[in-house]
Amino acid sequence: MQVVWFKRDLRVDDHWPLALACDQGPTLCLYVYEPEIIGSEEFDSSHLQFINQSLHELDNRLKSLNGRLTYRVGSMPDVLAALHATDPIAALWSHEESGNRITYDRDKRVAKWLRDHQVEWREIPQNGVIRRLKSRDGWSKQRAAFLKKPLAVTPSEITHPRGISAGEIQPPEALGLTATNKTKLQTGGETPANETLNSFLTDRGQDYSSEMSSPVTAPDSCSRLSTYLAWGCLSMRRVVHELHDRQGYLRELRDAGEPVGGWLKSLRAFESRLSWHCHFMQKLEDEPEIEFNNMSPAYDGLRENEFDQSHFDAWCNAQTGYPMVDACMRALHQHSWINFRMRAMLVSFASYHLWLHWRPTAVYLSRHFLDFEPGIHYSQFQMQSGTTGINAIRIYSPIKQVKDQDPTGKFIRHFVPELATVPDRNLAEPHKMSLAEQSKSGCQIGKHYPPPIVEHVVAYRAAKARMFAVRKQTAARADAERVVRKHGSRKRSNSTRNNQVTKTK
Ligand SMILES: Cc1cc2nc3c(=O)[nH]c(=O)nc-3n(C[C@H](O)[C@H](O)[C@H](O)COP(=O)(O)OP(=O)(O)OC[C@H]3O[C@@H](n4cnc5c(N)ncnc54)[C@H](O)[C@@H]3O)c2cc1C
Repeated sequence: MQVVWFKRDLRVDDHWPLALACDQGPTLCLYVYEPEIIGSEEFDSSHLQFINQSLHELDNRLKSLNGRLTYRVGSMPDVLAALHATDPIAALWSHEESGNRITYDRDKRVAKWLRDHQVEWREIPQNGVIRRLKSRDGWSKQRAAFLKKPLAVTPSEITHPRGISAGEIQPPEALGLTATNKTKLQTGGETPANETLNSFLTDRGQDYSSEMSSPVTAPDSCSRLSTYLAWGCLSMRRVVHELHDRQGYLRELRDAGEPVGGWLKSLRAFESRLSWHCHFMQKLEDEPEIEFNNMSPAYDGLRENEFDQSHFDAWCNAQTGYPMVDACMRALHQHSWINFRMRAMLVSFASYHLWLHWRPTAVYLSRHFLDFEPGIHYSQFQMQSGTTGINAIRIYSPIKQVKDQDPTGKFIRHFVPELATVPDRNLAEPHKMSLAEQSKSGCQIGKHYPPPIVEHVVAYRAAKARMFAVRKQTAARADAERVVRKHGSRKRSNSTRNNQVTKTK
């Protein structure tokens, strides 16, 4: 019996482990609810809801091929042992996973069990992340070559082994979770994933490059593929192939003198984000410790001992007194998605203005990002917190972001209704309204909406001074060289990176 282990690859389309296993003979398609993952601090019942929706469709698709999904709850080695006792396993097939410490340690236990029982583990890459990469030199080319390869052919028929109980989809309560009360989440499954890809490439994506940064336009103009990529309802290779087809078609139109609007520019910007996806995941693959430790140890001790619980609580509860920060957090509480710039601003505010260490804030947001992808998440958190030592220190102004990204307050008023009647000119800093203005607008600061938790300019200057005090140390510079060699994208020279200045966005 072949076993295909579905993890963050909840699809039938372009699934090489499934295609190759089915060629060998009877194939059990397995999904395991692992208590360690489900009980972890990064997991939320919204994730489970998305997974279960995806499993439902996956099972139906497998059934249409005469296969089916078998569900188990437990630790993977125990599940394998029980299956092996019923029907010996010839090989375990799965995609490589660049996960967190929990999945990394779990994989080591699975590998040991398989070795001890002389069962082969055929692990197959699923995106541009390269295992045991020796050097970042040439990584981009290797990634491009991998993604150019043909898509896996969907098996025409699956021979499902007999006599193995199917198990069933597990509702949250059965796993000790409470069902999510979020009602505005993306739906899991290959069908919604493909619909989202198609609508982006043919309709929604035209103004992506100019509309991606504002939380007003981003929900529609961004691809919204992150959740589908994170849980594998779509393969990165499928997305890249569809993108290249679309770009080819648009270039032909352009060359024939037809108008193509902003499409080609937007799709170039999208293509580079897809590459960032793999670039950031490769960092965690190459250095799993960055889930917990500063990428550059020169920044150790900077924030660890100054954690202010009241700052953390105000940030989590969207009560910082900065309308854009609070609106973004409340949007996440409802939708579990927000665009890149607003994620970066939320983290910049937590790490610089509130001087919170990135680890607790990253864990909090992992539960509120439906697209939680450890490799991107932790690498981005470190980048936006200044602890990589190689990136420009970007401290976002929560005041400027209102003026730049939501000048008429559409987004803020929607998510922070207590500010609904505050005039546009006061929306970035409502505490600056006079008492008469507060009374007129029906929003009294301190009663209906909190005053700012810290003063922007003071907090910004303090953070900048502290970051640069570390950055100019010889040890920090030496460490930056190491980080660039190990993780740098190779797009810019080292000297450019090391001279980067603080940017206030
Ligand atoms: C602090 C922080 C944490 C983040 N955590 C995650 C996470 O857990 N999971 C996740 O998928 N993305 C994460 N991102 C990256 C980015 O914000 C999201 O990928 C993007 O907003 C998802 O929306 P979209 O699919 O519409 O993206 P689009 O803008 O349409 O981009 C297309 C795809 O490119 C990739 N991508 C886009 N921007 C980035 C980026 N900056 N870095 C890496 N890949 C990118 C994603 O796969 C995305 O689906 C994080 C960003 C920050 C600043």
